[in-house]
Amino acid sequence: MNKRGLGVGLVGSGFMGKCHALAWLNVAAVFGDVAAPRLVALADATPDLAAQKAREFGFAESTGTWRDLLQRDDIDIISITTPNEFHPEMAIAALEAGKHVWCEKPMATSLAAATSMRDAASVAGKTAALGYNYIQNPLIRQVKALLADKVIGDINHVRFEMDEDYMADPLTPFTGRSAASAGYGALDDFGVHPLSLILTLLGKATRVFGDMRKPYATRPDGKGTRAVDNFDIATALMELEGGAQVTLSCNRSAWGRKGRIFMQIFGNKGTLAYDQERLNEVQLFVNDGPVATQGFRTIISGPAHAPYGRFVPAPGHQLGFNDLKTIECREVLRAVAGEPAHLISFAEGLHIEATVHAIARAAAEGRWLAVG
Ligand code: NAD
Repeated sequence: MNKRGLGVGLVGSGFMGKCHALAWLNVAAVFGDVAAPRLVALADATPDLAAQKAREFGFAESTGTWRDLLQRDDIDIISITTPNEFHPEMAIAALEAGKHVWCEKPMATSLAAATSMRDAASVAGKTAALGYNYIQNPLIRQVKALLADKVIGDINHVRFEMDEDYMADPLTPFTGRSAASAGYGALDDFGVHPLSLILTLLGKATRVFGDMRKPYATRPDGKGTRAVDNFDIATALMELEGGAQVTLSCNRSAWGRKGRIFMQIFGNKGTLAYDQERLNEVQLFVNDGPVATQGFRTIISGPAHAPYGRFVPAPGHQLGFNDLKTIECREVLRAVAGEPAHLISFAEGLHIEATVHAIARAAAEGRWLAVG
């Protein structure tokens, strides 16, 4: 174990900024095999906000200018948790300054910018990891093992649905989320999460078809209404290397759905099903035994699913969203130490970005397109 913990600089202190801060605060206590990271400095858009959040999260210093973090020798890694449009500039500058980077998804809103991020990481030779926390669920690792063991046989069809309702109300005011600068909408705002699971569990998409919809063409903007630039609903049909067919439907205006990533993987011997709203359970159906007593059985997470036991020794007591980020943080530390890590790097994440852009272009052109 290194005696001196990694020096951390955090940029952004909103939803995901707090999530990264909690992960940095907890990782050493949870895992017990790494030195506690040093929370050196936090940057946000204004000095006052940065100072307030640094106090709350336990960072020693703060700044209203994120580039200040890059000048410091006592910072080894930058956590980037700002809105999507800032990721490329911040990540590339941090890598060029010799820092490791842990950046929230998606990489960027253009494929060119995401490619520049990948290239900067390759030149710098530093860890460049993306915040795809759902692949860190111990039960998702179990699903990967079940797939590798062919427990449900050869995969022929996969169905993903990702639904939330934060844009479901037509009276929700226009924000940056509905602006072209935020990207395509549901597809890159959160559709990248199921794409990260598809990449991790099943492999790369080779060709895609897409369709995207605006359930509400305008939203109130305080003065009247403003035209919505991007799409709250996106559906894709995909083919994976190996030939399996995947459908992916994303809807951020889906009333009643709060954090649903519903996954069904169908093989020639059985089926695996999972819903992120029940992240401590996986459903497994195997075609064996008498038909009269066949059915899905529920696998409940517990210490048998590493690293669940690092958090709590008793099965069925349940991990939560922030725990997945703590697991991701441990993997980031592994990568920094030069060890194999279960992460999506900038290089691997570029395939997710290429898939997103291919789906959006396929939707615009009304035809199947090859990815990349
Ligand atoms: P947020 O609005 O809650 O927080 C963004 C933060 O960035 C704020 O503190 C804001 O003041 C700060 N910021 C903005 N401009 C800045 C600048 N120039 N310099 C320094 N700080 C600046 O947003 P969020 O929901 O935390 O989303 C942030 C990122 O996290 C997005 O890329 C989003 O896609 C991603 N995200 C990931 C997940 C996940 O599950 N991995 C979940 C939600 C959001």
